[in-house]
Amino acid sequence: MLCVGRNYAAHAKELGNEVPKEPLLFLKPPSSIVGPFGVVVLPRESERVEHEAELGVVIGKRAHRVSAEDALSHVLGYTIVCDVTARDLQRKDVQFTRAKGFDTFCPVGPWIETDLDPRDVEVTCTVSGALRQKGRTSQMVFDVATLISAMSQVMTLEPGDLLVTGTPEGVGPLVDGDTLVVGVEGIGVLELDVKKGA
Ligand code: ZN
Repeated sequence: MLCVGRNYAAHAKELGNEVPKEPLLFLKPPSSIVGPFGVVVLPRESERVEHEAELGVVIGKRAHRVSAEDALSHVLGYTIVCDVTARDLQRKDVQFTRAKGFDTFCPVGPWIETDLDPRDVEVTCTVSGALRQKGRTSQMVFDVATLISAMSQVMTLEPGDLLVTGTPEGVGPLVDGDTLVVGVEGIGVLELDVKKGA
């Protein structure tokens, strides 16, 4: 999974960060994936685990140094991702590997929608019935086509790669017993239970 940080200006601001001039890229390990109706486990190493509702892009055709104009022709379809983040560890570490890499920190699904225009759909996150995040992909600093082009200048994107496009404002904590619902307009919802790890 290839992800981008601070891709919505209001979210960059809420965490006290500048809006980047180029996409800020990082990776999440495949072992962090959990299914759309599974359990997010809060690891004992963190005291502050947060949700980040995001649009996911699944690559269908190899992309190497593609232009933004050509980028969307390399997409198989779109899905929903929650980029779960241990915010305290993210603040402590220089980079994001540990904070975003725990098992179950990447809920994905429930399917790949092949018929979606990604330029202006709503992204939401509700935690135990309270709406926390509500944004639109039209508010992205770098839109999907620009992101794919920028990412493909760095590394070849392969079929099956999952691009995670950043989160709107409203991130907040998850606690033991929460129900996490993440939605993207035109795709559907993920619904996961949140439980404290052993
Ligand atoms: Zn994120």
